[in-house]
Amino acid sequence: MNSAVLSPSIVWLRDDLRIADNPALAAAVERGAPVVVLYLRDDVSPGIRPLGSATRWWLHHSLVSLTESLRVLGAELTLRSGAAEEVLPALVAEVGAGAVFWNRRYGAAREIDARLKTRLRDDGLEVTSFHANLLFEPWTVTTGEGNPYRVFTPFWRACLERGVDRQPLPAPTAIQGLDVPSDTLDDWTLLPTRPDWAGGLRDTWTPGEQGGRERLERFAEDILEDYHRRDEPGIESTSGLSPHLRFGEVSPFQVWHYLRARPQPNTAKFLSEIGWREFNWSILYGFPELHKKNYRPAFDAFPWDEPDPAELAAWKSGHTGIPLVDAGMRELWHSGSMHNRVRMVVASFLIKNLLVDWRVGEAWFWDTLVDADEASNPGNWQWVAGSGADAAPYFRVFNPILQEEKFDKGRRYVRRWVPEIDSPEYPEPIVDLKKSRNDALAAYEAVKAAQ
Ligand code: FAD
Repeated sequence: MNSAVLSPSIVWLRDDLRIADNPALAAAVERGAPVVVLYLRDDVSPGIRPLGSATRWWLHHSLVSLTESLRVLGAELTLRSGAAEEVLPALVAEVGAGAVFWNRRYGAAREIDARLKTRLRDDGLEVTSFHANLLFEPWTVTTGEGNPYRVFTPFWRACLERGVDRQPLPAPTAIQGLDVPSDTLDDWTLLPTRPDWAGGLRDTWTPGEQGGRERLERFAEDILEDYHRRDEPGIESTSGLSPHLRFGEVSPFQVWHYLRARPQPNTAKFLSEIGWREFNWSILYGFPELHKKNYRPAFDAFPWDEPDPAELAAWKSGHTGIPLVDAGMRELWHSGSMHNRVRMVVASFLIKNLLVDWRVGEAWFWDTLVDADEASNPGNWQWVAGSGADAAPYFRVFNPILQEEKFDKGRRYVRRWVPEIDSPEYPEPIVDLKKSRNDALAAYEAVKAAQ
């Protein structure tokens, strides 16, 4: 097509901050007209959950990386902020756009997208959305009766039977960018300044598409062979891909095809963990208030304790006197992440030994995790609480001492994060594990009665 006669295209990037395997970007380039590549910071619209501190840090660096990659191809990244339903139509008018492209999202924000699609189409624009960020769009995997799955194993079996139908797209080789005024990233103040607590994050992570790609390659080459030891926090045996997937710097299709092309004994197990991400999104799709409400309403009857400020502070800062809990919470504070097994243990401790509502812990993780995700964070908290889909039964209370003996036998992990563990400075436990466990089981009777 002749770009001289075509009005510009806008590609609206969201949690898909990548150039390769980005169908919306590819379609905009293919259309042939100049392209505005937009990232719109919308934390004011209903249905948008404002980012926490750690994801704000990640976003900043991811946008820097994306800007650099786009520039090499010939385009600038345009930053705008405000409510999408105001900002996007205004940008359309400003540049005289004739087409808008985006990759679909599946949380409550999809309603914003649906309204925008109708409105812009009514105005005569070409508006196209794409399947890009989940292997399986939630409405495509349903039970025989057409309902969403509530249990993981049949869900994932159904996914595998369907098969993954698309191959990753290559990155465009050039983009005919259209320069329009942009916010300045630094003015968004996404980075912490006083104090700058992000040193541990900087040491641990390389946000951006290239950082994600390198993680994937290193994982396939050196780490996946140890994935059967993924429950041991003292060794590196998992991918570390979660924040890259969270921001869409790596697509699940890229992960899927890259690993399937290099099969190893642990590949299927690893891909089933990617399946848990899909499952949580499919749950969120049917239940957009996942971070606010119990998925199983019987849990509304649970008599949570008002959090004791000193106990909560001890949990957050890793000074509970329970070594594995303290190690995990300190890992989180330092690196913006925590090993999955330890996430389960610290969550169980908060919910079942301190009797604190899972929403309190979920909010802390939301603020401090670099991979904090609107489906997987509340989905997993509700899984531990017992209130979620396919959740661990409430009466399964992790014993953090036994968990440490089983999964961190040589104390490699605990010693790394709690170096004072053997000294007299290390505090006594803030609760009696046995008594608090019994109290939790007694409180659970209220849920049983409501079922
Ligand atoms: P790997 O073992 O290498 O797994 C590969 C990928 O599979 C992960 O990157 C992730 O995308 C996905 N995955 C693995 N386990 C799960 C799971 N249980 N649920 C959903 N996806 C999974 N994960 C998040 O991505 N965001 C969150 O906000 C989040 N919050 C959590 C809160 C709690 C209380 C718990 C118990 C778990 C949470 N998880 C969350 C799941 C899991 O802990 C992380 O995905 C995992 O630790 C990330 O490390 P990895 O990439 O090395 O995992």
